[in-house]
Amino acid sequence: MTTIGFIGLGVMGAPMAVNLATAGFDVVGYNRTPSKVEPLVAAGGRKVSSAAAAASGSDVVITMLPDSPDVERVLLEEGGVFDVATAGTLVIDMSTIRPDLSRQLAQAGGDRGLRVLDAPVSGGEQGAIDGKLSIMVGGDADSFAAAKPVLDVMGATVVHVGPAGSGQTVKAANQLIVAGAIELVSEALVFLEAHSVDRERAVEVLAGGLAGNAILNRKAAAMLAGDFTPGFRVDLHHKDLGIVTAAAREAGVAIPLGALAATLMGSLRAQGHGSLDHSALLVQIEQLSGRSASN
Ligand code: NAD
Repeated sequence: MTTIGFIGLGVMGAPMAVNLATAGFDVVGYNRTPSKVEPLVAAGGRKVSSAAAAASGSDVVITMLPDSPDVERVLLEEGGVFDVATAGTLVIDMSTIRPDLSRQLAQAGGDRGLRVLDAPVSGGEQGAIDGKLSIMVGGDADSFAAAKPVLDVMGATVVHVGPAGSGQTVKAANQLIVAGAIELVSEALVFLEAHSVDRERAVEVLAGGLAGNAILNRKAAAMLAGDFTPGFRVDLHHKDLGIVTAAAREAGVAIPLGALAATLMGSLRAQGHGSLDHSALLVQIEQLSGRSASN
């Protein structure tokens, strides 16, 4: 039986680990806040008290941590995952981190005989619960083939997009598009309200035409109700737009709308809204338009 060490069981990691255990894998979970491993234990997984304990003896190690420094520490620190994993182990980082760090980690792991993939995801908490995530994978083709049966449990769309770091580059593009889409949907909702149009009906017809998109389909109803329960937190999208703007600058690519969306997301966070869902960009457009509430 394949043993999977799973590190980071938060909003996304917990349901992903549960799905792996339910699919019959032997899953060993570690989270900094130990209570978050309970759903995995209830699904038949095991709980351990360090990242090293999750990695030692595992055939596959998965990390689903908040940010680049977290992944770097857990994998590279003395006595960490790279030190204890045996040669041939697949190390799959599914967090959203900097592409350049993913490339470094693949190199450092490869030097130790480990097979490292970057495999960030899109689809949100519901996608994680349903096992329907979109998973964009960077790394070598053989490692991808070996990881595919594990990734298929968590995702409905699992695509090898290129060498190490490519998965993170595609994820950065994903976050650029999502931020821009939320921004324009927010502007449209304020615009419609100012013209006294029935916004529920407007959203219904807009979603059926060329303006249709996942934000209109999945988030507009909550936005109209002023419900910004996360979901995906402003804090995390702010982190991701930092990755996007740095990577665009590194490549010499202009992203004028993306840069503006990054500024607005940062401003929302600076106003104390970091824990709200990223669809709270609507609040900012309301403020800029002198309109105080979305409902
Ligand atoms: P989260 O904060 O809910 O979960 C992260 C978990 O990691 C927490 O339970 C935390 O206790 C744990 N943790 C932090 N440092 C640790 C360490 N050193 N050792 C062990 N555990 C540690 O975050 P999330 O929403 O699950 O997101 C995880 C990653 O997935 C992020 O990179 C995020 O950008 C990305 N992501 C999130 C979503 C979403 O909708 N929430 C969607 C796609 C991608």
